[in-house]
Amino acid sequence: MDIIVNAIVLKSVDYKDNDKILTLYSLEKGKITAGIKGVKKSGAKLKFASEPFALCEYVLAERAGRYTVIGATYIDTFFNLRLSLEKYYTSSVILETLNLLTGENEPDHDLFTLAINAVKHVNYQSGELTALNSFLLNFINLLGYGIQKINCNGCDCKIDGRVFFSSRFAEFYCSSCRIDDAMEITLETYEALSSIFNKSIEDAVKVTLPRTAEVKLLKFLTYYLQTKTEVNVKSIKSLIDFIS
Ligand SMILES: [Zn+2]
Repeated sequence: MDIIVNAIVLKSVDYKDNDKILTLYSLEKGKITAGIKGVKKSGAKLKFASEPFALCEYVLAERAGRYTVIGATYIDTFFNLRLSLEKYYTSSVILETLNLLTGENEPDHDLFTLAINAVKHVNYQSGELTALNSFLLNFINLLGYGIQKINCNGCDCKIDGRVFFSSRFAEFYCSSCRIDDAMEITLETYEALSSIFNKSIEDAVKVTLPRTAEVKLLKFLTYYLQTKTEVNVKSIKSLIDFIS
């Protein structure tokens, strides 16, 4: 039976002489694996649909639970991602995060929309790091590890001195209310997080943050995500090395 899915290529690996195996993140089926034949031959008709970042409508043939791409139509090539290293590294983090932290055949409409939105922002606009931070913050929410409130969990103040964060409870504390397992983070990180907290990517990218604040926030969100999921998104290191 043939099925049609809207999907982005998370990963593409060589298989046999001329084929590839794609990891797709699709609206309809979540993450799936699909073979695509002959795409390494010159002039192959479906070559475009086998490149990382390609967003296409795929026609898949299903046989014994395995998918093979038999047709594809472009929705977006996200071509700018290949022209700027910062855009390339930033969107690689989005795709790797999706790949590592989603299960096969678990469709999630909100997550698909969030991810495509994030890649679009990185491709078409400036504010790449803020778009990534907003993606991570919203993604953490969808995973169920969301930070519920930005004010001090003890006295409910907007913190403006020393800031402490408990990964275990996902809560912030001021210096008077701090609890034992909360670690200190910089005020700059906290204020950067506050400025994009509870915002969609569209609204978050309207906030202009200094580069140092964006990087600190990225490191904080990476640390928190890793603590909660025990997954190490390797491309974040490449991105941080590149922008530092
Ligand atoms: Zn307090």
